[in-house]
Amino acid sequence: MANSTHPLLDTAKQFSKEVLRPNAAQFDAEQGVPESVLREMCTSGLAGAVLPEEYGGGGVDALTWGLITEEIGVGCSNTRALLTVHSSLVGETIARLGTDTQKQDWLPQLAKGERIGAFALSEKDAGSDASAVATRFEEKDDHFVLNGKKKWITYAAVANLFLVFAASEDGSTNAFLVEREREGLSTTPMTGLFASRGAHLGEITFDNVKIPKENLFGRPGMGFTFVANQALFYGRFSIAWAGVAIARSALEEMVTWSRTRKQFGSKIGQHQLVQAMIADGVTSVHAGRAMCEKISHMKQANDDAAVMETNITKLFTSRIATEVANNAVQIFGGNGLWQAYPAERLYREARVLEIIEGTTQIQQMMIANYGLRQYFKTGLKKLYPE
Ligand SMILES: Cc1cc2nc3c(=O)[nH]c(=O)nc-3n(C[C@H](O)[C@H](O)[C@H](O)COP(=O)(O)OP(=O)(O)OC[C@H]3O[C@@H](n4cnc5c(N)ncnc54)[C@H](O)[C@@H]3O)c2cc1C
Repeated sequence: MANSTHPLLDTAKQFSKEVLRPNAAQFDAEQGVPESVLREMCTSGLAGAVLPEEYGGGGVDALTWGLITEEIGVGCSNTRALLTVHSSLVGETIARLGTDTQKQDWLPQLAKGERIGAFALSEKDAGSDASAVATRFEEKDDHFVLNGKKKWITYAAVANLFLVFAASEDGSTNAFLVEREREGLSTTPMTGLFASRGAHLGEITFDNVKIPKENLFGRPGMGFTFVANQALFYGRFSIAWAGVAIARSALEEMVTWSRTRKQFGSKIGQHQLVQAMIADGVTSVHAGRAMCEKISHMKQANDDAAVMETNITKLFTSRIATEVANNAVQIFGGNGLWQAYPAERLYREARVLEIIEGTTQIQQMMIANYGLRQYFKTGLKKLYPE
């Protein structure tokens, strides 16, 4: 069983239990995690927990960070999404790849929540194939100019520091740190979503946005191959734990309901076909958490293999989240389809995890390429009978 005695993990558990879990349905229905909750995520140290102590963060190890992500995710997926984009995709990436000046400029503000970060890669026609971004950068004498539009950006509506990916006319990609207050930058909220309704999704328009050279992030031309891939490693680590969170939450709901609801003269948890779904849920949560613990230790040790193992874990836990939440809907019966009960929301939020940070199919392609190399039998004189 994973263990961390870090006080921020206790903070996360308490915050999740007292503030998030009782209000998650309301945040979903009202289409936005309230500013007061986001502020508390920052002032309590949770949003900055994974950032280095020298820049005002909590400096927690990878396992503690995963467990914090799980606890917040058990309470509310929309709030957990703040940790995924602000802390992992943006914060961890700046801590890893930023220049000394960029770290000094941005990390203390992100750690305190004076700036909220968002990750702006996807566009209308650039999703799984993110290298197809049409947002353009042009290099002028002492600055860059950005033009284009980003879509699906989590927390775009409240963020004020964007990690943006753009391409030049000749197709090379750069990453930039762009402050909301830059002239020509505007955001539009996205509504009518199936899930992630509370995570302030939005589109970002760049209309001749002028940014200084020092806001270039990472080496020129390495925006996609280096910066985006590093950020997506942190993002997938976060989503891997988020999958465990939803699966666990759905399991807790289905068990509690199974021990409450009576049909045919007994609690439905006594019926063996219901028990089969509970057994599968328990097995999935235990397996998913074991995989998450493994990637946490690998990440902490800077093991190169952590990247592929994280892809594998993200694929697994996003699928078990969907499966366990789907079974929770089934066990709640009609109430499983009613917004007054938690199962349908958990199912909707689980489906998001199979689409973001690389869809299930994109993970499968990467894992299959790895599998075709890794599991090819070598050193045998004869492979198979003639
Ligand atoms: C709730 C939510 C939050 C998001 N937050 C962010 C964010 O903060 N920042 C950001 O930059 N983006 C964000 N995204 C965008 C997200 O990363 C993309 O939706 C995702 O990468 C998939 O791209 P797409 O939607 O364009 O689907 P497409 O790429 O068009 O894919 C459609 C389908 O085709 C499949 N497919 C595509 N290519 C292949 C292939 N080569 N082989 C097999 N199957 C394939 C996919 O698996 C999928 O099933 C968010 C999306 C959602 C829904």
